[in-house]
Amino acid sequence: MSGRLTIVGLGPGDDKYLTPEARAALDAADALYGYGPYLDRVPQREGQIRHASGNRVEGMRAREALNEAAAGAHVAMVSGGDPGVFAMASAVCEEIEQGLEAWRDLDIVVVPGITAMLAVAARAGAPLGHDFCAISLSDNLKSWDLIERRLDAAAGAGFVIALYNPISKARPWQLGHAFMRLAQHLPATTPVVFGRAVGRADEAVIVTTLDKANEVTADMATLVIVGSPETRVIPRNGKTPLVYTPRVAAKVTA
Ligand code: SAH
Repeated sequence: MSGRLTIVGLGPGDDKYLTPEARAALDAADALYGYGPYLDRVPQREGQIRHASGNRVEGMRAREALNEAAAGAHVAMVSGGDPGVFAMASAVCEEIEQGLEAWRDLDIVVVPGITAMLAVAARAGAPLGHDFCAISLSDNLKSWDLIERRLDAAAGAGFVIALYNPISKARPWQLGHAFMRLAQHLPATTPVVFGRAVGRADEAVIVTTLDKANEVTADMATLVIVGSPETRVIPRNGKTPLVYTPRVAAKVTA
């Protein structure tokens, strides 16, 4: 049997966000690898072995999965959201590039999932309706200086910005600094969306403006969308407002 490693996106929340393709890939695997809370979301199947690991050991997890696949197994690696967005598909590619020659002979299949920014955007209306970008605020694998330069460039160029990994216990100040940095380029009234645990039972979505945005509103399960100067909010009686970015860009920002 030739080995296979399938890297599967679980989507942002519960079962209904799992695509039929992802479900079939999980069912077909002999062994599952992933961060514990993500593995817990996968339906149990008899005879399938699970290898749960912590959230700071992506390289080790990838190497273990590649070794098991190289021994002939069908292995699935799970990721929240989409596996290619700040997640395991890159970690696996990094290990293949640096690792054993035999790993290059494996079937590597990436199964996409709904990434957090799309799930949060859908709740808010259509904030990503025109040009946008995604930036991770985690400075574990890149410098804060580089993050600030990217924030400046993105806001200056008029992109809507989706902020992944906005805050954690080890990174308490970065989101507040990012809001201050963005405020140097954007109007105080720029819409900001906090989407927390979207697709799960404890989901919460808050719409505010850049001058009022407070980092304490976010936690590790939150994705933040900062609008562009074009992004608009439509208030509605008794209903959450609609946040959207029109398809036509008129204003010059930088
Ligand atoms: N691969 C994942 C992202 C991993 S980075 C994806 O495609 O979504 C982890 C970050 O994703 C979190 O810090 C948070 O910013 C965001 N995130 C993941 N799941 C989320 C959810 N259900 N609701 C809101 N944000 C989420």
